[in-house]
Order: sequence, then C-alpha cells, then structure tokens
Amino acid sequence: MAEIRLEKVRKTYGNVVAVHGVDLCIGDGELLVFLGPSGCGKSTTLRMIAGLEETSSGTIRIGERDVTTLEPKDRNIAMVFQNYALYPHKTIYDNLAFGLRMRKMGRDQIDARVRKAAAMLGLAELLGRRPKQLSGGQMQRVALGRALVREPDVFLLDEPLSNLDAKLRARMREEIARLHQEIGTSMVYVTHDQVEAMTLADRIVIMRDGHVQQIGAPLAVYDRP
Ligand code: ADP
Ligand code: ADP
Repeated sequence: MAEIRLEKVRKTYGNVVAVHGVDLCIGDGELLVFLGPSGCGKSTTLRMIAGLEETSSGTIRIGERDVTTLEPKDRNIAMVFQNYALYPHKTIYDNLAFGLRMRKMGRDQIDARVRKAAAMLGLAELLGRRPKQLSGGQMQRVALGRALVREPDVFLLDEPLSNLDAKLRARMREEIARLHQEIGTSMVYVTHDQVEAMTLADRIVIMRDGHVQQIGAPLAVYDRP
C-alpha cells in the first residue's frame, strides 16, 4: 500500500494539451474517483500513473519511489479496463493465474492467490469454465480478479463498469466498494458517471479540459456544481 503523488504532471499530444500540470496526492488506502466529461484528461492521467503513457513533464511517486520513468511492470500497480481482455481459450483459473506464471511465481503460491481472489469475487465455482460461458458481470469479476492476484500497491480502474447494464452496474459498484473495504488498497477510479462517483469515492477529483477543477468529499463537490 502506498501514497501516490502527482507533481505538475502534464501531457501533450502535438499541440493538444491533454493534461495541464496536475498536482495531487492520493492517500494510502483512499478510493479516489476522477469524474468529468469525455476528453477532459481522466484516462490520460490514469495511464500516466500506470506507466502506459509517458508524462511530458512532471513527477509521479508511489510511496517513496519516483516511478515517472519506470516501466508498468516495475510499478506494482494493477489496472482494470472496461473491455475485460480475457483469454477466450483459457479457463477462468488460467486467466487468473497467467500473469503470475509469467512472473515465475511458484505453483502453490499461485494456487493460493487464485483461490483467494476467486473466493473474494464469488468465482470459486466458475474456475473450470471459459470466458464465453460467463455473464458480463462474471467476466468483469474475472478482470478484477486478474488485478487482485497481483496484490498491487494501487488499483487503477478505467470505466470498469461501462459495458454493463444498469442493474449489473449497481451490483458491481457495491462489490467494488466491498472489495476496497476488505483489502484496503488505494484505488483510482475513472468514470463519467456521477452516481458511480458519489457512491464509491472517498474523494472526487472533477476534471475539465485537462485541469483539476475541484477536489473534495462527494457531498462537498456536489454542493458546489
Ligand atoms: P477522458 O479519459 O477524460 O475521456 P482522455 O484522457 O482520453 O480523456 O483525453 C484527453 C485529451 O487528450 C482529449 O482531447 C483526447 O482527444 C486527447 N488524447 C488522448 N489520447 C490521445 C492520443 N493518443 N493522441 C492524441 N490525442 C489524445
Ligand atoms: P497478463 O497476461 O495477465 O496481462 P503478463 O504478466 O503477461 O500478464 O502481462 C504483460 C505485461 O503487462 C506485464 O508487464 C504486466 O506488468 C502488465 N500487466 C498485465 N496485466 C496488468 C494489469 N492488470 N495491470 C497492470 N499491468 C498489467
């Protein structure tokens, strides 16, 4: 677990400024939601924390470490995307285990982590199935599980529920809140959905045009739209 600090983090694409020098500290164990309309720079900010995009300037620290120039695999973060990106021909067990096998983790430790994540996410009975035999909500849980087995310092979630219907979205929102309480790991969650932001966040960062417009507890930012 760790605090994340963004110092004057900026990103430009040609002459488009996607993110204008963001300063932000995400507390250890906090669930921080980036909220704002499409194109305001939420994803770019998240992808810079993940290391999937380089910063144009500025610094990103996780705990004491300056990770600004580290590869994604050296940052100990895990990212959950909206398209689940599961391996269609592998079982759920193998989908969960794959990343750990690539890291040459021992078989028993992999097994323990896979079963623990599966139990937390209600997937224990589904480990022998393949992705196409699962519902959308179950697939999203597997995507969460693949991040969970890594036991990262930080979870990054980019619109993880936007492919689900309204009912399932509400249920998965509850699950993510419960998971966050249970494991206590910092989460940075990107959404354009106000309800999601209001129900999940410890604090909300409202972004507009690449700037942080407001930061505060859900009710505080909502009172001053
Ligand atoms: P959001 O996640 O809030 O929808 P993004 O971070 O995806 O916003 O995008 C912020 C801005 O940066 C937008 O103007 C977008 O068009 C631009 N942008 C994002 N990625 C790229 C890219 N790879 N190349 C050029 N422009 C990009
Ligand atoms: P997987 O196939 O499960 O994604 P790999 O270990 O083969 O696992 O991943 C390849 C690279 O992508 C690694 O550098 C890893 O750090 C990164 N990566 C894979 N999945 C994630 C994730 N959920 N979050 C962050 N990084 C990831």
